Amino acid sequence: MQISKSIPNDFIRQIITEDLKTKTFQLVTRFPPEPNGYLHIGHAKSICLNFDVAAENSGHCYLRFDDTNPSKEDLEYVESIKADLNWLGYTWTKLCYSSDYFEQLYDYAIELIKINKAYVCGLNGEEIRQYRGTLKEPGKNSPYRERTVEENLDLFTRMKAGEFADGELVLRAKIDMAAANINLRDPIIYRIKHLPHQMTGNKWCVYPMYDFTHCLSDAIEGITHSLCTLEFEDHRPLYDWFLDTLQIPCHPQQIEFARLSLNYTVMSKRKLQELVENNLVNGWDDPRMPTLIGMRRRGYTPESIKDFCNKIGLTKNNTSIEIGVLENSIRSDLDPKTARVMAVLKPLRVVIENYPVEAEQLEAPYHPNDPSMGSRLITFSKVIYIEQDDFLEEPPKKFFRLAPGREVRLRYAYFITCQSVIKNENSEIIELRCTYDPATKGGSAPDGRKVKGTIHWVSETHAITAEIRLYDRLFNQPNPGANGTDFKTALNPNSITILPNSKVEASLANAEANQRFQFERQGYFCVDNVDSSAEKLVFNRIVTLRDSWAKIEKSNR
Ligand code: ATP
Ligand code: MG
Repeated sequence: MQISKSIPNDFIRQIITEDLKTKTFQLVTRFPPEPNGYLHIGHAKSICLNFDVAAENSGHCYLRFDDTNPSKEDLEYVESIKADLNWLGYTWTKLCYSSDYFEQLYDYAIELIKINKAYVCGLNGEEIRQYRGTLKEPGKNSPYRERTVEENLDLFTRMKAGEFADGELVLRAKIDMAAANINLRDPIIYRIKHLPHQMTGNKWCVYPMYDFTHCLSDAIEGITHSLCTLEFEDHRPLYDWFLDTLQIPCHPQQIEFARLSLNYTVMSKRKLQELVENNLVNGWDDPRMPTLIGMRRRGYTPESIKDFCNKIGLTKNNTSIEIGVLENSIRSDLDPKTARVMAVLKPLRVVIENYPVEAEQLEAPYHPNDPSMGSRLITFSKVIYIEQDDFLEEPPKKFFRLAPGREVRLRYAYFITCQSVIKNENSEIIELRCTYDPATKGGSAPDGRKVKGTIHWVSETHAITAEIRLYDRLFNQPNPGANGTDFKTALNPNSITILPNSKVEASLANAEANQRFQFERQGYFCVDNVDSSAEKLVFNRIVTLRDSWAKIEKSNR
């Protein structure tokens, strides 16, 4: 299956196409991450949408760091977000920071005060919550709501000058404490935080809130379509209120779409951070993490992530996507372009008793359907390893691999027949003694004799020992943390299996970090970009194969 390159046609693209037909403007979108963690696959959905839709319409997409909360943000995250976007292959026309606009935002706040649409409130956090009311009951006006414009200007200027402690005062928009939409009940727009900011240092001790910052940053940058996730739908009236009340000529259109959630994992920076901080995973780049840096280390390609984002499409309904959809995207991307090699994950020694020479070289193509990928020579010898799982002393009916007295095909080599089984004192199988048929070289018997199984192998003396890391789902429940449980209790204790003594064919000796291979019959693997070295190769399993081996067996029959 080839990855489809067709442009999706979703409701957002339809709106934009219609707008471009009826009005004259250049499309400008933005991706606005808060630099408070590493990006995950959910962010990729927003990234692909914003950058692709801009490119499809000869528009621009900006990268804007939404950096208004210095207590959680860090330059480490800024750098990682840029690196992730580059890796995905996207370039932004402009790099912006909400903090670039602190001065302008402050001026807008002053303007709101001057037109009596904002006031300085002295209620504390708890009181503000109580006064806010509930979904069923209207809120109550703050006792500070009727301060005069002069008083508000004076207090806000002094808040900025650092005369008050954190939490002592806030600036609130004056909208409607009885509004059905709670977001309109005099939301906070500025709070005091005596904290240095990663971009502005100690210049500010009042910081604007998200809802105030976001719409104004969009307007300042000339964003035409502000695409965000569904939880901001209820904030849209507020987004529009700020722009209308301040009479800003540029009024971007906010359109919401459903967040991506994937089953058997979590998709929130806060939760991912909790896993990292509690050492429940080995860092943000742990290959089990749904972070882009983790998926990159695991071996996912940018193409597969983009294909996945296109496939799942955009809707207005929050649904959970099967992790299998993501796995299919990486399989279809890797299948046509990845070299096939042989690796034995759990080795079982096989001595071919009647093999007359020490070794010989056999040619093996790198790809069954693409001769342009070439071939390599693999060494066949008297002692080889096969997969422990490819032998059963007492095979059930449908087991077509090796068993006592049974003949199988060794991929690219010969037919072998198992003659005897050697065990240790614990009755564990440690070696098989086999014979081979020299006439079957290349994989078929001149007498037309058929074998049902084909298995992979490596030569004992020529193979390289490698560590192979197999990954399974990070959680063993489809929706970790559902029903108010701690999501961490749903962690899968077997999400990683380390095989320190696997054997890979000699051609992998010079495999480089991030290089991907298909280990025949096992799956797709990637050289780990942190722990692998020339002395010790380490491979991550990206994903298992599905039906591909069944096909090979069939075609050999
Ligand atoms: P998190 O809860 O993981 O921190 P967030 O929405 O707070 O997510 P931001 O850094 O604010 O993270 O997100 C930047 C952009 O990415 C926003 O426009 C946001 O809507 C979008 N985004 C975040 N998570 C997802 C997701 N799961 N699916 C689609 N878009 C997402
Ligand atoms: Mg956030």
